[in-house]
Amino acid sequence: MIKSVGVIGAGQMGNGIAHVFALAGYNVLVSDISRDALDKATKVIEKNIQRQISKDIITQEDGKAALARIETTVGLSDFSDVDFAIEAATENEDVKKAIFKELSDVMKPGALMATNTSSISVTRLASVTDRPEKFIGVHFMNPVPIMELVEIIRGIATDDETFAIIEETIERLGKTSTVSEDFPGFIVNRILMPMINEAAFTLYEGVGTVKDIDLSMELGTNHPMGPLKLADFVGLDTCLSIMQVLYEGLADSKYRPCPLLVKYVEAGWLGRKTGRGFYDYSGDEPVPTR
Ligand code: NAD
Repeated sequence: MIKSVGVIGAGQMGNGIAHVFALAGYNVLVSDISRDALDKATKVIEKNIQRQISKDIITQEDGKAALARIETTVGLSDFSDVDFAIEAATENEDVKKAIFKELSDVMKPGALMATNTSSISVTRLASVTDRPEKFIGVHFMNPVPIMELVEIIRGIATDDETFAIIEETIERLGKTSTVSEDFPGFIVNRILMPMINEAAFTLYEGVGTVKDIDLSMELGTNHPMGPLKLADFVGLDTCLSIMQVLYEGLADSKYRPCPLLVKYVEAGWLGRKTGRGFYDYSGDEPVPTR
C-alpha cells in the first residue's frame, strides 16, 4: 500500500506530479539538487492549487490539505520512509542512473521506483537499481494537473504486483492509463516528437513562418496548439533529447533532429521556461521569432 510518495526533480513535471499526488491524499516529499528549484516549485504548486480553487475544481479545504501534505528536501537522504519514488529529473541518462543508484542504497526494501522519462529505456534505468522487478515507467503529460493520460511502461523485469499497484494508483489520481512496451518514445512521443521535429524542419527550410506553421496545424488539423507552440511548452531541450533517443534507439535516419532545433538549444533558447524559443515570451503576448 502506497502512502508516501517521493518526487525527484522539482521542475515543471515534478511540481505537477507532487500536486496531483498530494491532492489525492498521499504525503509527498519533493527533492531537487537546488533549493531555488524547490522554492520555485512550491510557489508554482500554490498558484496552481489556488487556480483550481477559484475555478471550483477543488474546495478550499482540499487545496489547503494538499499543500500541507507536501514537503521539500535537497538530496535523497530523506527517502528512507518513502513507499514509491518517482524520478522527474532532467532528461539525461547519466543523471537518472546516478539518482537510481543512490535511491537503491537509501530506500527501504520492497519500496517501488518509477521514472517519468519521456524516452529513455525503462529496462536500462531499472538495471542500475537493486530492484528491477519493483521498477516501472510512469509517463505523465504536461501540465500534469490538467492532462488526463499517464502512460505506464513495464520494464522487462517489472513484476505483475508492481504493475497492478501502479495501475491502481494512477486510477486513484483520477487519471487514465495506457500501457506501452518499452521502446524509444513509448506511444505518445514516438508519434508526437517526429511531428514537432518536422515542424522545425518546415521552418528551417523556409516552407512557412512560425505563425503559419502553427496556424495551419491548429485550423487545418484541429490541434488545440500548433507544434512549435507545443515544442516551446514542452521545452526544446526535452524535444531534442527525445529525438536523439529515437534516432539512436531506432537507428533510423527519419528521426534525425532538425539542425535548427539543435541550434536553438545550443543558444539556450529552450522555450517558455527560458523566455524564448520559437516564440519570444518577454512581452504580454508570445511573439513569433521567425
Ligand atoms: P525541468 O528542466 O523543468 O526540471 C528538471 C529538474 O530536475 C530541475 O529542477 C533540476 O534542478 C532537477 N534535477 C537535475 N538533476 C537532478 C538530480 N540529480 N537530483 C534531483 N533533481 C535534479 O524538466 P521537466 O520538463 O520537468 O522534465 C523532467 C522529466 O520529465 C524528464 O525526464 C522529461 O523527459 C520528463 N517529461 C517531460 C515532459 C514535458 O512536457 N516537459 C512531459 C513528460 C515527461
